[in-house]
Amino acid sequence: MSIVVQKFGGTSVADAERIRRAAQKAVDTKRSGRQVVMVVSARGKKTDELVGLAAEITSKPRPREMDMLLSTGEQESVALMAMAVHELGEEAISLTGAQIGVRTDGSHTKARIISISTQRMKDALDAGQIVIAAGFQGVDEDFNITTLGRGGSDTTAAALAAVLDAEMCEIYTDVEGVFTTDPRVVSSASKIEQVSYDEMLELASLGAGVMHSRSIEFAKKYRVNLCVKPSYLDGPGTLISPQPAQPTPTVTGVAFVRSEARVSLIGIPDHPGVMSRIFSLLSDNRIPVDMVVQNVGVAGTANVSFTVGKDDLRKTLNVAAAATGDLGGTVQHDANLSKVSVVGHGMQTHTGVAAQMFRVLADNSINIHIVTTSEIKISVLIDQELCERAVNAVHDGFQLAQQLNQPPHVGVPSKAPKTVTRNDTSQLEADIVSQLSGMEEIVVSDIYGDTDQARVTITHLDDIPGVAADVFTAVADGGVLVDMIIQNVALDGKSNISFTVPPDSVAKTIEALKAPLHKHAAAQVSCDERIGKLSVVGIGLRSHTDVGARLFRALGDSEINVQMVNTSEIKVSVVVAADQTATALNALRSTFELSPNEDAQLSSSHSATT
Ligand code: ASP
Ligand code: MG
Repeated sequence: MSIVVQKFGGTSVADAERIRRAAQKAVDTKRSGRQVVMVVSARGKKTDELVGLAAEITSKPRPREMDMLLSTGEQESVALMAMAVHELGEEAISLTGAQIGVRTDGSHTKARIISISTQRMKDALDAGQIVIAAGFQGVDEDFNITTLGRGGSDTTAAALAAVLDAEMCEIYTDVEGVFTTDPRVVSSASKIEQVSYDEMLELASLGAGVMHSRSIEFAKKYRVNLCVKPSYLDGPGTLISPQPAQPTPTVTGVAFVRSEARVSLIGIPDHPGVMSRIFSLLSDNRIPVDMVVQNVGVAGTANVSFTVGKDDLRKTLNVAAAATGDLGGTVQHDANLSKVSVVGHGMQTHTGVAAQMFRVLADNSINIHIVTTSEIKISVLIDQELCERAVNAVHDGFQLAQQLNQPPHVGVPSKAPKTVTRNDTSQLEADIVSQLSGMEEIVVSDIYGDTDQARVTITHLDDIPGVAADVFTAVADGGVLVDMIIQNVALDGKSNISFTVPPDSVAKTIEALKAPLHKHAAAQVSCDERIGKLSVVGIGLRSHTDVGARLFRALGDSEINVQMVNTSEIKVSVVVAADQTATALNALRSTFELSPNEDAQLSSSHSATT
């Protein structure tokens, strides 16, 4: 019999009436002939209340006791939910994380799941019970209660769906689904019918975090079909699946992070090992870095910029000071920035998406400080006070409000083949502890090198709105498919842009740039007809602070200089000299324990971003 996991968030179980409504959904699903596992969060603001209570007692609660306290919120909910199901005439059993066997590591308040046993849940399901599992919690190897970090019930739900091989993991919430952007910022935001895991990961910051991004990483890793649905009505919600929607819109959504801080290391030596030194220090200090940008060095020095959460700024500045103390260079920072991103698979096949985004920003007098891209995302860093204006303008510019509402997706999508190897023959063994060992370990799914790219760099551009728009409009009008775009922070009022294009488009690009650069007399264009671009693709690249450190260490140890860096949620790209691509690829593949380079991984296919 197929299994459905239904997760109900705090607002969906806030009071008796809503608990009854949630119970009714589960009962209806069971009566339609499926087995149901409910995952329930703490009621309403319960977790916040508990955090507040602890704060009244001490400013430094020990994490172990915090977990002991916070886990009670979910325990209360599951018991009440079981009672509600009983009242509706079905059998149900509530279970805590420990009772299900959610084993985690010992990092209290932000634990990661190591394994989950399925025996007890399966026995209960087979006995005709609805299983009601407490979200957000587990136990470490000494049976200390742990929690998975705020919002962690989504991760519990995705993980249970993975180990139980559920046909669907439904996330019931107080919104209609995933929106094209946060409706509180853009009132005309519309609900998305379907997004891919990658789009959803890139959109992770969208809509006040509709879902915990670790839950999406899980879903992607184990190919769990997810659906975000409203708990207060029977809407179809948003399907999150391996494939993008068909037809694929150019831009699926606009995401933003209102508050980011930028730290730049200016004038550091442009030689092997430097990035490794910086990122090892950041990783040792457990500072999660968001955007990383390094553009082409000039006269033996390079500039690297990255963004961190504001809370980590002080610590990061200390690290940056230590790094420049050893290496040379100076540190700059800006604490009041926002990141605005457009996301969509469609930009892989349409030209001019970047130009359009930059134009919209320019028309609204918004200056762009930094640009990074991936195949399906373009992110810009702008002044924080312009965040709302930018999000509204970009959302309008891509006509996301007017999306035609396609008919709701019917039925369950066919599942792609699982990549997880599970011991199906030894049922007993598999049932005792699901051997999805290290469930949340970082997964670098692929690393590839591309030598069929050239780099174009423009320096000494005026740092004013409209420059990037002019450049990329001209390039798109010239019929050139741009792949990666990097703009680092401006220095002395002059900004710089680097991008990659197919080698046979270099001449066309230089020609196309003549007109827009006419306005910028001081601008200088340089190019490298052949570069090597390495891409590390995977999930959890951001939440695991040591990925950058490992990546740059591998390159540094191989004496490979990093010329450019560009990041997204699901990919880190670095540019190196073309003749070092194969060495770099091998070094990276061995660091991340992928099979050594075969010719196929050095692709020469060009995939356009913009
Ligand atoms: N109750 C926890 C929180 O509020 C977990 C969750 O709701 O997902 O963060
Ligand atoms: Mg919650």
